[in-house]
Amino acid sequence: MVVVEKDLVTLNQDIAGQEIGIPVYRIFDKSIVNKTKAAGSGNKPVPKVYIQSAVHAAEMQGSAVIFRLIEQLKKLTLFAEFTLVPNCNPFGRTQRAGEYLQGRYDATTGNNWNRFYHYDETDVVSFVESLEQAEIDLIKSGSETKLVRSFKSFLKHKLGSKLDKDWGVNTAQFLNTTLQEIAVDADIVLDLHTGPSSTRHIYSPEFLAGQATAFNIENIISIPPKFAGALDEASFTPWVHLTELFADRGIELKYKVSAFTIELGSQENICLTQALSDSAGILNYLQQHHLVEGFVGVEPVDITTTLLKNYKTLFSKHAGMVEYLVKAGDKVAKGQVIARVLNSLEFDTKHAIVDVKAPDTGTVILHYPSAAVQVGTQLFKIAVHG
Ligand SMILES: [Zn+2]
Repeated sequence: MVVVEKDLVTLNQDIAGQEIGIPVYRIFDKSIVNKTKAAGSGNKPVPKVYIQSAVHAAEMQGSAVIFRLIEQLKKLTLFAEFTLVPNCNPFGRTQRAGEYLQGRYDATTGNNWNRFYHYDETDVVSFVESLEQAEIDLIKSGSETKLVRSFKSFLKHKLGSKLDKDWGVNTAQFLNTTLQEIAVDADIVLDLHTGPSSTRHIYSPEFLAGQATAFNIENIISIPPKFAGALDEASFTPWVHLTELFADRGIELKYKVSAFTIELGSQENICLTQALSDSAGILNYLQQHHLVEGFVGVEPVDITTTLLKNYKTLFSKHAGMVEYLVKAGDKVAKGQVIARVLNSLEFDTKHAIVDVKAPDTGTVILHYPSAAVQVGTQLFKIAVHG
């Protein structure tokens, strides 16, 4: 029997003390969870999947996707426990600039809401050093379950002590660390975002780029498994480092957390019809990993994988009003005019319009959302296949 539990977890308060929370949904099959519990503590636990959306508050399509996922998970056979957190940023959600949500940045500090998750390399080293020989022998014999469980609780404890610091943490650190405390138990972590004006794409660590095709998203950006502050990186990097430390001792550790950032189109926009096919890609991935059963599958799309070093930003060399001549998702050729910038001080000269050309051949993944640009604005991001 599939059970849906719902909590409102308070993270923010207004100055009158009014609580502003995040909805946390937990979905699982009671009989499967009970069966695993009854099998005893040595058994593999039921896998856990964590999915959040809109940590960049204006990027709301992921919340529509979580709605669709909940609808469908209720009808499927579940071999995992799901934790789903839509609109997970109660600070960004309440900051507006004009007609729009403030979005990517804390309006007060300028901090990016997706760059303050926690990872400390020295934590992993001290965890390995603290292991008893008997625990290491267990891993050598191929039994990883106990190690995985104790490393997860170690990481959770570290997150708790970060929030407990005498000197406190900034708002983005508070938000990110609190969300990470919920996510840290999971085996699969999906962080749902959108671009500004964007086609669908997914960031996958290099070691999972093959698996990432199951999401059925046309563009995969393959990133090195390093930490730069985002949730996906904070989720898999400790395990990558742990594996390396064991490899140094000649021990192969197979377990890793799988984490992806999925970019579902453009910000300030939801489409419930599109959310159905977005959720289908996620269910397809989950079914391939035997976490759900009964899903009908997807019609596979052509997928291009681009290394992060070939995912290039085109910065504007001109200020003015910009007309975008290509859409996100379009293929462009080197030298093709992809935008033009209009300058009102030159209306009476031949310099009124400046063409912007694609520096290389590739796929336009996203462009700046506004028609007003200055020198240095990130005009386009292009997956280069030149
Ligand atoms: Zn984002």
